[in-house]
Amino acid sequence: MKRTITIEEIRKTVETAYVHFREETGGKNADYIPYLKNVPSALFGITVCLTDGRSVSVGDTDYRFGIESVSKVPTALLVMNQYGANKVLERIGADATGLPFNSIMAILLENDHPSTPLVNAGAISACSMVRPTGDADAKWKAIIRFVSSLCGSDVAVIDELYRSESTTNFNNRSIAWLLKNYNRIYDDPEMSLDLYTRQCSLGVSAKQLAIMAATIANCGTNPVTWEEVFNANLTPHITSLMSTVGFYERTGDWLYNTGLPAKSGVGGGIMAVVPGVMGLAAFAPPLDGAGNSVKAQKALEYISVRLGLNLFNPVHIEVAAQEPVKEKVCQ
Ligand code: GLN
Repeated sequence: MKRTITIEEIRKTVETAYVHFREETGGKNADYIPYLKNVPSALFGITVCLTDGRSVSVGDTDYRFGIESVSKVPTALLVMNQYGANKVLERIGADATGLPFNSIMAILLENDHPSTPLVNAGAISACSMVRPTGDADAKWKAIIRFVSSLCGSDVAVIDELYRSESTTNFNNRSIAWLLKNYNRIYDDPEMSLDLYTRQCSLGVSAKQLAIMAATIANCGTNPVTWEEVFNANLTPHITSLMSTVGFYERTGDWLYNTGLPAKSGVGGGIMAVVPGVMGLAAFAPPLDGAGNSVKAQKALEYISVRLGLNLFNPVHIEVAAQEPVKEKVCQ
C-alpha cells in the first residue's frame, strides 16, 4: 500500500514542527566536552532532503556543529564498503548493548566483540579497520573524503572541539586499550582513538546531515551531486544498525514512536532515514540523559507521525515528483 504526499505537505509539517518545539526548554548541553557546553542552546534547525535532491529547511540549518556520534554512521559505511558487510559483522558485530554509548561494562560483558560500530567501542574498532592500515594521514583522508561525499560538500574539523575532546577523552582511551586487550583493534590503538576523536570533531550543518541521510536513503548515490558514494546493497545494513542502537539505551522508545532508523550525537544533531524516500536532520544542543537532543527528537517524531513515515506501517509513503526522477534500486 502506498500513499503519496507532496513537497508542500512536507514543508508545512517541517515549519509547524519548528514553531511547535522552538520554545521547548527540556535538556541541557553536553558538558563533559567543554566546547559543547558553550554552544548557544537556542540554536534549532530542521532539514528534509528527498532522494531526488529537493529539500526543505527551517531555522539554523547552516550552523556547523560537532557531528559527534553521528560520525559513527559514515565510518561504519566506509569499512563496510572497503571490506564488505560480512567482515564488519564478523569483526565488530551488529548487536545493541542496551547501555550508554561509552560503556566499559558493555565491553567487559561482551569481551570478545564490541557489538556494533554505532557505540564508542565499535566506532573506535571501525576506525582501526579503515584502509590503508598503518597510515594515519591516509586513513584520515579516506574518512574525511567519504563524509564530504555523503554530505555533497566539504566538511572540516572544528579545531577547538578537537582540542577539547582530545584533552578530556580518558574514558575513550580506556576503551581503545581494552579493545586491544580483546584483539578487537585492527591497527595502532592510539591512532585509532585519535581518528575517532577527530571524526567526532567534524563540523556539519543540518543541511549537510540531511543530504548524508538522503544519500543513505538513495542507496549510496548522493541525490544532490549524483556521486556514487557507497555500494547500493549497504543501505539495509546501515539502517538496521541505526534502528537497533541509534539512541543507545533509549533506542527502543525512539523506534516505538517514530519507526525510523536514526542516529544522534552529543553535539545535538540527529539524522534519520526513510529508505527510498528521504533523509531528515534536526539540530538543537540540549540533550536528554542518554545524550540525545531533546528538541531534535521531538521535531523529527512529530514529522514522522504527521507524514506517516514509520517504516513498520503497512502504508508506505512516496513523494509526488515534480519531474521524472532518476531511481536507484537497492540491490
Ligand atoms: N565524542 C563523543 C564521545 O566519544 C561522542 C558521543 C556521542 O555523540 N554520543 O564521548
